[in-house]
Amino acid sequence: MQTIEVHGKIFEISITEDKIQKRVAELRKLIHKKFEGKNPVFIGVLNGSFIFMSDLVKGYPGDCEMDFIKVSSYEGMETTGEVKELMGLKTDIQGRDIILVEDIVDTGLTLESLISKMKSYLPSSISIVSLLFKPEKCQADFNIDFLGFEIPNEFVIGYGLDFDGSVRNLKHIYRLQES
Ligand code: 5GP
Repeated sequence: MQTIEVHGKIFEISITEDKIQKRVAELRKLIHKKFEGKNPVFIGVLNGSFIFMSDLVKGYPGDCEMDFIKVSSYEGMETTGEVKELMGLKTDIQGRDIILVEDIVDTGLTLESLISKMKSYLPSSISIVSLLFKPEKCQADFNIDFLGFEIPNEFVIGYGLDFDGSVRNLKHIYRLQES
């Protein structure tokens, strides 16, 4: 098993680059099927979603626009429970179909807070796409319309997901190895 060491902790591969790319292509198709003939706005939730968002929209076969919103709720390996909106939207989303693009839904608090903020801008619809979902910890009440993978309650890194700012550049997704 290929492992890596980050900040003194050992991580092993959880989802390979190949598996991620295949699933991302499937999600792109499903999203296009839903929005064919429309012009949705993909809104990436920074920082973690930037690689997923890029792969997801690359080659999207219809009209679409893109924007980003920056939030943070994690310090190290723990959620702080507090969601801070750090950088706002530039696009006027009133009357638009918006697609929020998340890297991972853990407690769900980040998305729950974002969805309520987004609703105040009066979009025509809000859809959620997340690459990963940890159902065991989710306390929030919303539906993920397009999901990449369900994973157990474990800390993961790579493919945009960081460990204290590092390792977002890894091609595979890694999980913390049990000690
Ligand atoms: P939630 O509000 O759903 O608890 O957390 C959402 C955010 O926490 C994600 O967008 C992500 O930035 C971060 N997060 C949650 N779980 C993990 C994880 O296992 N690894 C990393 N690197 N970040 C995580």
